[in-house]
Amino acid sequence: MKITDIPIDGYERVVRCDDPGSGLKAIISVHDTTLGPALGGMRMWAYLSDQEALTDVNRLSKGMTYKSAVAETGLGGGKSVIVGNPKTDKSEKLFRAMGRFVASLQGLYTTAEDVGTSVEDMVIVRQESKHVTGLPREMNSSGDPSPFTALGVFLGIRACAEAALETGDLKGVRIAVQGCGNVARHLCRHLQEAGATLIVTDIVPEKARMVAERHGAKVVAPDAIYDQECEVYAPCALGATINDDTVPRLRCKIVAGAANNQCLTVEHGDRLKERGIVYAPDFVINAGGIINVSVELEKNGYNEDRATAKVKNIYNAVRDILENAQQQNVSTNRAAILLAEKKLEEGRKRKAAKIR
Ligand code: NAD
Repeated sequence: MKITDIPIDGYERVVRCDDPGSGLKAIISVHDTTLGPALGGMRMWAYLSDQEALTDVNRLSKGMTYKSAVAETGLGGGKSVIVGNPKTDKSEKLFRAMGRFVASLQGLYTTAEDVGTSVEDMVIVRQESKHVTGLPREMNSSGDPSPFTALGVFLGIRACAEAALETGDLKGVRIAVQGCGNVARHLCRHLQEAGATLIVTDIVPEKARMVAERHGAKVVAPDAIYDQECEVYAPCALGATINDDTVPRLRCKIVAGAANNQCLTVEHGDRLKERGIVYAPDFVINAGGIINVSVELEKNGYNEDRATAKVKNIYNAVRDILENAQQQNVSTNRAAILLAEKKLEEGRKRKAAKIR
C-alpha cells in the first residue's frame, strides 16, 4: 500500500492511497480540525480522472467543516473518496484496504457511509480501523444517517416555505425531488405525509419508479427536473446542479435539498437571490446525518431521542440563516459561510488562549 501526501493550501492533510493488491485508489481529505476530529463520509464513485476525485473530496471535506461548525457537533471536516464503480468494483479486499488507509491516519479522520457506500461496507472497514461511525445499531452505533438527514431537510423545507410561500403547510405544494436514493426515499415519505405533490427523477429509472409508486409521485426524465413548474426544487442527488445552465431554467420559489455542494460556485447562490429564489444552504439543511453521528461520539453513547431532538433544530438553523441573509443583504449561502467562518475563528481563538 503506497500512501502519498498531497500538500494543498488551506487543508490540514490530504493523502492518496494506491494499493494494487486490492485495486484500491482512494483519497482522504482532512480540511480543518479546529473544532474537533475530522468526520465525513466515504464516497465511492467512478471518477473520470484523479483530478476530478481530488477536487470532489476537497470540496466535500471543506463542506463538512462548515456543516459541523454551524451545527456545533464538536467535529471538524473531512471526507474520503474511493475511485471505482460502486455497482461493479466493490469487494471485501477493497474495503479492508480502505480500512487500513483510514487507520493509517490514527484518528485524524473518522469515516461513515456516503454516496456509493453502505452500512455493510462500513462493517468491513471496521475490521481494520476503529475510526468508523454509522455502523449498525446492534454494534452500539448510530446506524444509517439517511433518515435523520431527510428529517432535517423536511423541516428545512418547512422553514423555507414559511419565508417564501408565507405558510409552513406543505399541502398541495409541488416539490421536485432530484435523485431517489437513501435520503430522498425518506424525504418523500415525510413530504407525502404532509400532503405535498411530488415530482421525482433518477438516472436509474427503477429507483424513480419505486419512489413514485410508494409515494404517489409523477416521474420525469433526469434533465427535465429543472424545468418543472413547482414551489420547491429539492436536489438530493449529486452536487453542482445549481449552475449557469440550470439557474435560468428553474421555475421554483425555493431550492432546498440534501445534496452536498449544490451551488457550483458561491456566485450561483447569488444568482438564486437575484432571481428571488429562497435557497436553504446545503450544509445547514443537510446536517441531520452528521448530527446523528455526533451523538454516537458523546460520552454516554448513542441515544436516538437525543439525536432526533438535535436534528429538529435544523428548522431554526435554516430560518435563522434566511433572516440573517436578509438583514445583511447577502445571499443565504454567503450568510451561512460567514457564520461557519465566525465559529471557526472563535474556535481558533479558544485554542490559542488554551495554549498560552
Ligand atoms: P444515494 O446514492 O442513495 O442517492 C443518490 C441518488 O441520486 C441515486 O439514486 C442516484 O442514482 C441518483 N442520481 C445521481 N445523479 C443523478 C442525476 N443527475 N439525476 C437524477 N438522479 C441522479 O445518496 P444519498 O445518501 O441519498 O445522498 C444524496 C445526496 O445527499 C448526496 O449528495 C449526499 O452527499 C447528500 N447527503 C447525504 C447524507 C446522508 O445521510 N445519506 C447526508 C448529507 C448529505
